[in-house]
Amino acid sequence: MYISNMLHFLDDKGNIPKRMPKEAREMANFLALVVDATTRTMPTTLTSTEIRCFQKGCHGVVKSSIRPKEGEIHWYCPECENEGVISQWQGTKWNNSK
Ligand SMILES: [Zn+2]
Repeated sequence: MYISNMLHFLDDKGNIPKRMPKEAREMANFLALVVDATTRTMPTTLTSTEIRCFQKGCHGVVKSSIRPKEGEIHWYCPECENEGVISQWQGTKWNNSK
């Protein structure tokens, strides 16, 4: 389970920093895609996105949903059961729900 605070991946302008360890940068890009996709429709049950799981060797497509009570985005890969929650995504530029 990955617990991610979106703000921890961003610089003070709200961008993913260019200089960042490769793994962290890949994670940040993945989380940004999940926030972008999830906030288009704000599903409250796990719904397919078009985002590939980032786990090596996994070809799964990630599902995501909003947890309205916690205000978190939950994502889950049905193939490798990789999953996580994202908090502090509301103020980022990938939030389409405004
Ligand atoms: Zn996977």
